[in-house]
Amino acid sequence: MPQTTYFVKECPTCGRKLQVRVEYLGREMVCNHCGGDFLAGDVQDVFTPNEEDCSDAILLRVDELIDKADNNLGKPK
Ligand SMILES: [Zn+2]
Repeated sequence: MPQTTYFVKECPTCGRKLQVRVEYLGREMVCNHCGGDFLAGDVQDVFTPNEEDCSDAILLRVDELIDKADNNLGKPK
């Protein structure tokens, strides 16, 4: 699935939050609300569907479950 990553940049002229594609990082952009231009390099928040973080979290969870399973197996009733 194609994913587009955006970051949020507050327009220095009108203060509205704009979603700027990461491809435009460091380029001059024009605000589509007020028409003011700004540099899209000063990143405040990056919208990343952060796959690395997600998979780390899942791996941790899996480790926990494996630990539990091991404990259960190792303890005779
Ligand atoms: Zn603006």
